Amino acid sequence: MKKVVVMGAGPAGLSAGYALAKKGLDVSLFESENQVGGISKTVQYKGYHFDLGGHRFFTKFDEVNKLWNEVLGDSFRKTPRLSRIYYKNKFFNYPLTPMNALLGVGILDTFVIVASYLKSRLMPFKEEETFEQWTSNRFGKRLYSIFFKTYTEKVWGIPCSEIQAEWAAQRIKGLSLMSAIMNALFKSKKNNIKTLIDQFDYPTYGPGMMYNEMKNKIQTMGGSISQNSKVTRVNHKDGKIVSIEITDPRGKRNVFKGSDFVSSIPVTELVSILSPSPDPEVLEAAKKLSYRSIITVDIIINRKDVFPDNWIYIHSPEVKLGRIQNFKNWSREMVPDTNKTSLGLEYFCNENDKFWNMPDEELFKLAASEIEKISICKASEIEDYTIIRVPKAYPVYSKGYRTNIEIIKNYLTKFENLQLVGRYGLFKYNNMDHSILTGLFAAENILKEAILHNTWDVNTDDEYHEEYKESNPSDKEIVPEQLLGKQPS
Ligand SMILES: Cc1cc2nc3c(=O)[nH]c(=O)nc-3n(C[C@H](O)[C@H](O)[C@H](O)COP(=O)(O)OP(=O)(O)OC[C@H]3O[C@@H](n4cnc5c(N)ncnc54)[C@H](O)[C@@H]3O)c2cc1C
Repeated sequence: MKKVVVMGAGPAGLSAGYALAKKGLDVSLFESENQVGGISKTVQYKGYHFDLGGHRFFTKFDEVNKLWNEVLGDSFRKTPRLSRIYYKNKFFNYPLTPMNALLGVGILDTFVIVASYLKSRLMPFKEEETFEQWTSNRFGKRLYSIFFKTYTEKVWGIPCSEIQAEWAAQRIKGLSLMSAIMNALFKSKKNNIKTLIDQFDYPTYGPGMMYNEMKNKIQTMGGSISQNSKVTRVNHKDGKIVSIEITDPRGKRNVFKGSDFVSSIPVTELVSILSPSPDPEVLEAAKKLSYRSIITVDIIINRKDVFPDNWIYIHSPEVKLGRIQNFKNWSREMVPDTNKTSLGLEYFCNENDKFWNMPDEELFKLAASEIEKISICKASEIEDYTIIRVPKAYPVYSKGYRTNIEIIKNYLTKFENLQLVGRYGLFKYNNMDHSILTGLFAAENILKEAILHNTWDVNTDDEYHEEYKESNPSDKEIVPEQLLGKQPS
């Protein structure tokens, strides 16, 4: 009789647990936090629901769509999307469109943009090793510095001249300013874009609702979920994982044995708690991988309408603020009183850096002054706030990270009854749907007793462009038309 142990109850772990419990398998999930959902959870404060960022539900995988609809049914609704970029007191379309961008910056800047674009065509950087070189070569230095540089640097905390070009190549694909303008001017009617980006799905009470419901269903089907249960040791013998050790918040330990193991906990953490320990080379590789974190300062404003967008990217370099979510524009039910507005102000930082350790009151003061500075609302209109620190919000694709991942992967693949899933289990900058797909794949492998799918092979890279040709949405063809680039989400 199989006994499956799942480490971590975010979207990936829960999906694996759900698929296994549905088929009647004995499955136990262990989650370190006091609620499920991982970075897709929703935090409640005085009746307000706060998403950690804003989680759009969209996917090209039928099995993921099916799962989401099966779990939430009517509570999973279509939401119209409006998102813009704020720069120099102006709002620009996001995704950026060339005409809107050029007209918005004014005649002088348009001239500089065109001149710097021509310069970049005539005298491009010979090497394209960094984000700055790659993007400037395609868009010109001026457009790059307005629409790519500041936000990207806020997210990653390092200059674009140190970010790998691979990152830009992956997200911006084969676009250039000229191709974007040509597309905008001479767009073929046949190439109508399917408006996946104009609307998305969202649960009535935020993404956590989906994952709380998944948890309830797993338990109803006989699976078990232990919260406040941190996996602190993973024991192995003869090329197989045999058990895990759990520690609760009071320090009490317990050991759980299993036949099959699925891990969605950060792979760097997994490697460090394996017993016996892996080779020093594997531990070294894990130490070289890093994460970026976020702090959301969630504020409640005594005003009915503040702005119409779901979210706004703040490109203005004079504030540290990176992005603002307006939760009632995602779902009206996110706020208990429609005369009020709740905003999530996102700040990017590193876990345990100076910003991360700032006292809550200071963080709030800074956020209130910044939101007033960019004229979104007056600080005096804010009547309450709560602060959420989210460690490990983004895996960092730093120089050499692929080599380090390969070392870890080669080592862990040797454990025949261990499967890695999810954003941090596989160290991939992915969306919920990829995490879920890897969870479903792991479950299928266990059910069919064969490695039908290698979870490492789920490709996140091709999925960033959210548009298809309308003629045949199922052909999964990506049409990067008119997009001048996608911001880190
Ligand atoms: C700001 C932001 C915005 C985003 N927006 C979107 C979006 O619009 N659309 C979208 O699809 N995706 C979005 N994402 C991505 C999405 O949040 C992730 O892809 C998804 O949550 C990953 O799920 P996961 O299960 O792989 O990992 P996680 O959500 O990280 O879950 C892993 C779980 O493991 C637990 N865990 C860790 N260590 C241990 C341990 N030692 N023992 C036990 N448990 C442990 C964690 O507490 C967590 O619950 C966004 C992410 C961020 C940061």
